[in-house]
Amino acid sequence: MSIPTIALVGRPNVGKSTVFNRLIGERISIVADFPGVTRDRIYSTGEWLGKEFRLIDTGGIEMTNEPLMDQVRFQAEIAMDEADIIIFLVSAQEGLTDADEEIGHMLHRTKKPVILAVNKTDNPEQRQEIYDFYALGHGEPYPVSGAHGTGFGDLLDEVMVQAPSDSSDTEEDTSIKFSFIGRPNVGKSSLVNSILKEERVIVSNIEGTTREAVDTKFTSQSGREFTMIDTAGIRKRGKVYEHTEKYSVLRAMSAIERSDIVCMVIDAETGIREQDKRVAGYAYDAGKGIVIVVNKWDAVDKSDNKFEEFTKDIRAEFQYLSFAPILFVSAKTGQRLNKLPELLEMIYDNRHRRVQSSVLNDVVSDAVAMNPTPTDKGRRLKIYYMTQVAVNPPTFVVFVNDVELMHFSYERFLENQLRNAFYFEGTPLKLIVRERK
Ligand code: GDP
Ligand code: GDP
Repeated sequence: MSIPTIALVGRPNVGKSTVFNRLIGERISIVADFPGVTRDRIYSTGEWLGKEFRLIDTGGIEMTNEPLMDQVRFQAEIAMDEADIIIFLVSAQEGLTDADEEIGHMLHRTKKPVILAVNKTDNPEQRQEIYDFYALGHGEPYPVSGAHGTGFGDLLDEVMVQAPSDSSDTEEDTSIKFSFIGRPNVGKSSLVNSILKEERVIVSNIEGTTREAVDTKFTSQSGREFTMIDTAGIRKRGKVYEHTEKYSVLRAMSAIERSDIVCMVIDAETGIREQDKRVAGYAYDAGKGIVIVVNKWDAVDKSDNKFEEFTKDIRAEFQYLSFAPILFVSAKTGQRLNKLPELLEMIYDNRHRRVQSSVLNDVVSDAVAMNPTPTDKGRRLKIYYMTQVAVNPPTFVVFVNDVELMHFSYERFLENQLRNAFYFEGTPLKLIVRERK
């Protein structure tokens, strides 16, 4: 765990959403046009002085049928469970309230660092108000204004100072990190248990240094190391908020962020649902490798062309995941589960494939010869050069005469040509278009 997770906690209306947006800055515009999950803005990533962090807005997790104070309490609990650092937000405009004190008490129970931020400190006079908040017993209050965007530098400096440094950061972890993601009851925990039985391996649980998450490390029969990332409630059953949809989405997103490859589990008995698509969309958006795992295959009546039908349905519903292999398994009988580690190894290797620029540019020339570049108002797109700048996922920069001339469909075409020429099954590719005059 190298990237710290920060949670924003505070009673309603202190300005959590506003501050959330300030903290993640421009990142939001990158993800905002993606349907579903990311628009909920309960979980995102940001950067401060070149260091990445994850941010949770627990205020985004609503339990509509619960009394307000219970909701606030649950949100504080989620923060204490999920985050490495907590930003406790209060408001200079409304001053210290009972709800603030209640949250303050709860946060005294956690061993995690709590940083007190006083929002709505819009002008110097209001700075006098912040001293009242010392009474909460959470140290020095940091004045910020979500509305004006002031004070966040000092706040983030402090967050980074208090961010737990993880000793495991120093030695690089090259294990293949993967997780099972999916709706409740699709069989995620059954799959986890079945895999461990199947692999008959030495398992070591790694206790997160600061978080309660428990990941499982194992070595496959072929000798590769894997880390199975703890997902949605698998090991944390029995919390009140566990069954809220947003919480399960939050857990899923957190697992996705920490994985190289995401196994998206679909229940063969109940088929594809809207929630499956949202989670898959997030994994794709985050550039993760993806395997579509159809579980409970034992329970399906296979008289007709079930296999073909299911494959067709998945391809139709997840058109942007055409690169993702589909595996039909049963956690109950163990059917085909032994194929999963080798599939993950293959995808991991594909994600780390490096293609030489000379070879890459041969492919580009051939592509352009086959399908001429688009034109607009008499000007034609010129592709000068393509080069791979990163792996995991494979990322390419393509230099062109005018970025406006690069259409989405042509980008897709180039991506397909790369896929035809090199072996990238199971991973999204990133294409960055840059202008060179
Ligand atoms: P949340 O319920 O904690 O997520 O709070 P919101 O972010 O929705 O903000 C609640 C209200 O406070 C909104 O009307 C915001 O415009 C306002 N607000 C947020 N930040 C500031 C600030 O820094 N100064 C002032 N004056 N108002 C703010
Ligand atoms: P989770 O909520 O996604 O972790 O799902 P669970 O692993 O708790 O499984 C939910 C239910 O589906 C349980 O009753 C399991 O026994 C059942 N189940 C899980 N995998 C299979 C499978 O491969 N075949 C069948 N028939 N049932 C399964």
